[in-house]
Amino acid sequence: MRRGSNLGQLGGFNQAVILDSIRRAADGVSRTELAQSTGLTTQTVSNIARRLLDQRLIREDRTTSSGPGKPRIVLELEGGTLYAAGIHIDPAVITFVLLDLRGTVVARARRNMPASPAPNKIVRLMARAIDKMIADAGIARSKLLGIGIASPGPIDEEHGIVVGPPLLQGWTTVPLRSALYEATHLPILLNKDSTAAAVAELWFGGSRDPGSFAFIYLGTGIGAGLVLDNAVVQGSHNNLGEIGHLCSGEDGPLCDCGRADCVGAATSPRYLVGQAVDAGLIDARPETAHPREINVAYRKLCKLADADDPHARRIVDDAARKLGRAVEDIANMLDLDKVIFGGPMWSPIADHVLRRLGPVLKRRFVATAIHEVELSGSRLGDNVGAIGAASLVLDHKLSPDPAGLILNS
Ligand SMILES: [Zn+2]
Repeated sequence: MRRGSNLGQLGGFNQAVILDSIRRAADGVSRTELAQSTGLTTQTVSNIARRLLDQRLIREDRTTSSGPGKPRIVLELEGGTLYAAGIHIDPAVITFVLLDLRGTVVARARRNMPASPAPNKIVRLMARAIDKMIADAGIARSKLLGIGIASPGPIDEEHGIVVGPPLLQGWTTVPLRSALYEATHLPILLNKDSTAAAVAELWFGGSRDPGSFAFIYLGTGIGAGLVLDNAVVQGSHNNLGEIGHLCSGEDGPLCDCGRADCVGAATSPRYLVGQAVDAGLIDARPETAHPREINVAYRKLCKLADADDPHARRIVDDAARKLGRAVEDIANMLDLDKVIFGGPMWSPIADHVLRRLGPVLKRRFVATAIHEVELSGSRLGDNVGAIGAASLVLDHKLSPDPAGLILNS
């Protein structure tokens, strides 16, 4: 069995420290500042910077001025040299992105999940989609640092195995990391979808100091990613964030676990669509429909709720209230600064959740007299999981202390 390794960096440890510091400085950083922040000598910083400039991994910007006198010369990552690919597997759709070193999305693609998602078929589909995406973007394969996969959990991260995610039919024990490596011969990294989404938000969510936040991921299933004090937290075996069985506070549909008050079951698109069918709002067969069809019906239901149809409003508001109950508990337990929502099922229900949850959290967040909990939707849209998966590859290559294990030999 192939195991992952932590040895994926570009260059040695000191180089990774410098690259990481440059990556974290939104407006670039000077050599002197790098020496101060890293504890390395100015000479060492200059030598490493020279090497990175020669490799075109970083560039100099001489235009930034810090007042009278000489312009301040800062170092920034170079965009067009190397790339990381990200794949997000959702039971309804597979999303692909290509990021440059600066985290800019330079290409994207989507493929519908086939009706019978046999793992070997999906691996071939992913390999072909990556090939096409980089070819269409005109990028040489040799410039690809690796592929990150964001998958529904649970995962055995050490061995790169997806272990029976409840919503992917037939995926009992899938050695996805080694299978995609065999198909592409590129370094592969596997992580949970909700963790990947939190990583994307941490790096590219638009906040310089994100602090402590939970990313509530709404896809075919529900999950959470966690960042505490600007660092991603993954749990003892990288399966943190299984929030589906948190208590919604009310009885509802029977969950797989045998309880009737689980937030995952009460907010699942399949259940909500079933309620809409019962109310005569839409015509669908939620018991047998493919996740993609459920996705379409769910969007229809949310549109009806937006248009103030009273039955649709009730269904969507009930789901929003139950989701809110679980989010309150998460925010209180972890003393969060923010809760950020995203994933493919988020945008249709966004207004309903934010409208409902804002006032409730003001009342029920215990530390509310000291600080508020900010609620927002991710600005990264439906690609957030794939962006996070690619970001994890960048982490591996640019960070001295990366999250996750990579398979590269
Ligand atoms: Zn449950």
